Amino acid sequence: MNQSLSEVREQFLGDAAAAANADTLASLKDKYLGRKSGLIAAAKKTIGKLGAEERAEFGRQVNELAAEVEAEIGRLGEAIAARNEQAALDRERVDVTLPGTGAASGHLHPITLVRQRIEDIFVSMGYSVEDGPEIETPFYNFDALNIPASHPARDSADTFYVSETLALRTQTSNVQIHTMQRRKPPLRVIAPGRVFRRDTPDPTHNPMFFQVEGLNVDRRITMADLKGTLTKFVEMMFGANLRTRFRPSYFPFTEPSAEVDFSCYVCDGSGCRVCKGTGWIELGGSGMVHPNVLETVSVDPEEFSGFAFGLGIDRMAALMYGIDDIRLLYENDVRFLEQFA
Ligand SMILES: [Zn+2]
Repeated sequence: MNQSLSEVREQFLGDAAAAANADTLASLKDKYLGRKSGLIAAAKKTIGKLGAEERAEFGRQVNELAAEVEAEIGRLGEAIAARNEQAALDRERVDVTLPGTGAASGHLHPITLVRQRIEDIFVSMGYSVEDGPEIETPFYNFDALNIPASHPARDSADTFYVSETLALRTQTSNVQIHTMQRRKPPLRVIAPGRVFRRDTPDPTHNPMFFQVEGLNVDRRITMADLKGTLTKFVEMMFGANLRTRFRPSYFPFTEPSAEVDFSCYVCDGSGCRVCKGTGWIELGGSGMVHPNVLETVSVDPEEFSGFAFGLGIDRMAALMYGIDDIRLLYENDVRFLEQFA
């Protein structure tokens, strides 16, 4: 081979051995095969200096070298591409033997769990579940429930007013009125939901809490029906063989009215921390629907009578889960809520 051609070849082999990636390979190709300034093109230009008899041999050798360089660059290109692909596969390899991280699954809030249980019990007794507005006019929240204009519950110190004529409902009893306006007796409904009162938060009070309202209106409904219904509810909710007691009380929307207690399911009446030593646990308020309430919704109190009750869902949740501060139910601290999964 011609002296200068074998030098170009030596140089190329040295450069090719050092070409490690697509970039160095591209400059290698430029350096040797470039049409204008490539070393092989430069070698071809020297052909003019040769004698006529040497030209044919030189031409053959320079073409051979060009083919060799081209083939080698092609081979290197394939090798680099294969190496890159393997590296990418190695990077993306998934080690199926590594332990998984696992996703935490959600679950229902304790208030929801208790509400669903209450609903199931009353639905099994033939009640339907009603819903009603949380923002209410004074008519539905007070007037229709026989609460006089002078009643302190209407005061803005006790009730959250959102405007002159609208307030956040202070009880779920507004649903009684909506339901009786829509449907005629016989009626058996419960209405669980949020209520709002201007209470200072403490372990047993919160400005927003959950109640379940109950209403049963039909012919010949008596106080005995109310007692039987709530006693059965207590048995299904907290345990068989529990007793209830009804203490005379006063609510504007019922007459007569009674506070309902049930015997402590922890100590069975002998007194413990849960019942604060009394042997009884407060369940809620109840009574026979006041005739004025029935008349307001055009139900004849001479023909129909009914009972109503309002029970605290949060209080029941606190009892069932042994929670001593109901504010925990509303703070949405995941460490607390996780315990109910
Ligand atoms: Zn007790």
